[in-house]
Amino acid sequence: MIYLDYQATTPLAPEVAEAMRPWIEERFANPHSPSRWGREADAAVEVARNQVLKAIGVSGGSVAFTGSATEAINWALKGTAEKAPPGRNRIITVATEHAAVLDTCEWLTDHGIDLTILPVKPDGLLDLDDLERELDERVLMVAVMLVNNEIGVIQSVTEIARTAHQVGALMLCDAVQGFGRIDLPLDADLIAISAHKIHGPKGIGALWMRDGAEPAPLLHGGGQERQMRSGTLSPALCVGFGEAAQLAQKRATRDYDHVQKLWAAAVHALGPGWVINGSISHRYRGNLNLRRDGVDGARMMADLRDIAFSLGSACASGSGRPSHVLRALGLSYSQSRSSIRLGFGRYTTQKELVDACQRIAAVAKAQERLDA
Ligand code: PLP
Repeated sequence: MIYLDYQATTPLAPEVAEAMRPWIEERFANPHSPSRWGREADAAVEVARNQVLKAIGVSGGSVAFTGSATEAINWALKGTAEKAPPGRNRIITVATEHAAVLDTCEWLTDHGIDLTILPVKPDGLLDLDDLERELDERVLMVAVMLVNNEIGVIQSVTEIARTAHQVGALMLCDAVQGFGRIDLPLDADLIAISAHKIHGPKGIGALWMRDGAEPAPLLHGGGQERQMRSGTLSPALCVGFGEAAQLAQKRATRDYDHVQKLWAAAVHALGPGWVINGSISHRYRGNLNLRRDGVDGARMMADLRDIAFSLGSACASGSGRPSHVLRALGLSYSQSRSSIRLGFGRYTTQKELVDACQRIAAVAKAQERLDA
């Protein structure tokens, strides 16, 4: 199997598995219990929290662990809406956001929120003039992702946050695909991240909150996570997240350079005839989303069962619906169907990537001949 689906999830780093092992096999204490074992587990959770905070690149604010980035995003949006001052009931977001943002915002429209979804330009980037035109004193929050999970384009979140702040709105950034890979927009007020996209375990995410921008509590109960998100934390998952974050920080330049080389090798191996979806200049290059006239992505996937790649996005793939992101770029239904997403990173070798791309190109040519 050649794994080219790094935007869906990433392989667990061996260092992470090693760090987690004692907390799975032996050290089972509840980190919220006052026993000596409990205090040791709590200390390990706090080390992990600091590792995550350091990898985000901030000294202030706080990190609360959640079960996923989806949970962190739901919390940020719903909890902020719950605390909204009178008169501030608008949320502005973008058509290419992840479903965790779009569906939560839609849900909020039944709970008093007035929602504006901005379009993107054909390269997938938000036009800041469009945002400025929409901003007014009624805007509670602007939610824009850093790196798009389907097409890899990087939005100017720092500028977007500064613009939002001019009218007193808060900024939520879904940084799931950018965390551990590129610098985070530290002007945001709330940042959602996930461990399994950075070679950490599944089942844990986090919400970073600027002091004073904390949403209303999410889960009520034992009062964990500073009374905001009750529930027993898993030391194993927290330690795994912390280790993955620290590793990503340490290896940032090496991983980044590796991905740049892989991108160039993949583009070369695919050969001519492909169009890259989304901006090439404002892009995380571990994502190669591209299309070719006459190609049927689903048929290609059936022909290449030993290569794990994606059609549009992992979430949209099973649904049979064309990707909402590719539609937002203005692609037709048939252009969306002829698009595939290759995602690669730390553990992808150039040889396997080139091999996969050459086979993808060969299948594309065979499909063209068959249909001619
Ligand atoms: N946001 C983006 C951009 C993502 O790519 C994903 C995962 O696919 C999520 C949010 C949700 O993350 P999680 O799997 O931790 O819920």
